[in-house]
Amino acid sequence: MGNMALIGLMDCNNFFVSCERLFRPDLLKKPVAVLSSNDGCIVARSQEVKDMGIPMGLPLFQAKQLSDTSSITFFSSNFTLYRDISARVMQTLAEEMGECEIYSIDEAFFELPDTVTEEEVHTIRSTIMRRVGIPVSIGVAKTKTLAKQASVFGKKGNGVFLLTEEIWKEKSKNAPCASVWGLGRATVGKLAALDVSTAADFMKLERGFVRKQFGVGGERIYNELHGTVSHNLERNSQDVRQSITSTRSFAKTTQKLIELESAVSYHITHAAKKLREKDLLCSRLYIELRASRHSDFSHRRGGAEIVLPESTNNTGDLLSFALQKVREIYDPDIPYKKAGVVCSGLIPSSFVPRSLFTEHSKDSTVNVIDSVVDRVTNKFGMHALHFASVLDSGARSSMALRSKEYTTSWGDIPSVHAK
Ligand SMILES: [Mg+2]
Repeated sequence: MGNMALIGLMDCNNFFVSCERLFRPDLLKKPVAVLSSNDGCIVARSQEVKDMGIPMGLPLFQAKQLSDTSSITFFSSNFTLYRDISARVMQTLAEEMGECEIYSIDEAFFELPDTVTEEEVHTIRSTIMRRVGIPVSIGVAKTKTLAKQASVFGKKGNGVFLLTEEIWKEKSKNAPCASVWGLGRATVGKLAALDVSTAADFMKLERGFVRKQFGVGGERIYNELHGTVSHNLERNSQDVRQSITSTRSFAKTTQKLIELESAVSYHITHAAKKLREKDLLCSRLYIELRASRHSDFSHRRGGAEIVLPESTNNTGDLLSFALQKVREIYDPDIPYKKAGVVCSGLIPSSFVPRSLFTEHSKDSTVNVIDSVVDRVTNKFGMHALHFASVLDSGARSSMALRSKEYTTSWGDIPSVHAK
């Protein structure tokens, strides 16, 4: 074994589709697409559907206008299944390769010895296939940024690609800047204006110029493309899989919609702030509205789940989905005892799945309102500034059982008096 000098990226092929096919082997090699449950957009496509020219993120009705979709088998998103299969894939990879960095539901980085052969990488791939049944592509290179490129080459070929310096020298001439991991739309536009359209062009720029024009982030990508590690492997797998919960029982039961809305708004505000602190986005939201255990409604299902059309940590976005759901499941006859939210399907915000319908402004990490609210509430406490749907009375009633923010709010730091 040589030094652990190489980085691999494992990427599940058409992941949601592959999960569905696990239980429907009759659909192998047949066109399959997975829809977002909210608005019926296509969120995953089998190769056959890609070949039909149906783009990612297209609403179903538009896909039907575009081409004959009668041969396609459609599924609604089943995130419970996808997360479970994902965990099995990640566990298998970790068993084979040691602790890895789970990067998204279907991607992970891991370390490899620099002596690794293509055949050995194929073994990892076939082990995952044998144990879990999910086809994956693996790219291997000196840095994460290059491993990402390699996995794309692997996907187009036999599933494995070892990107050496020599091969990259050639391939980089045909790799558009937009295909480079971390070069966002704004940067790619700026580069195009400088007549820099390929990774090779970008790599030819002066380091100092890159730093000046594109900051430390740009310089890191530049280094990584030149084979110098600037993004270390982060073995933070637990962080990625956990969920963020904010929930509390009412002091007294309530049957008022406005109080439930207020409490859920309060919890969303809390949870969204935590997501931003941890640099995470959530893709699923569970709204808990539980009836009193002592009422006739104690058997009622205590909540509902929302699969978000796009992962987010934006308070406003999360609030609008949450409140809509609260109004849907609210029943005026039920004495409610508890309200809360659970954010799950967490991914690092550095991974922004680019969909066609993402507005450019939403591309950046945290929006302006959220960052202002975060700064004010960090200093003066959660009650200092809140969204209008958190009623003042509601906020107070839902805070009644909550201890002070001893460690996070200046106003709540305990004071000690000596006699
Ligand atoms: Mg994938």
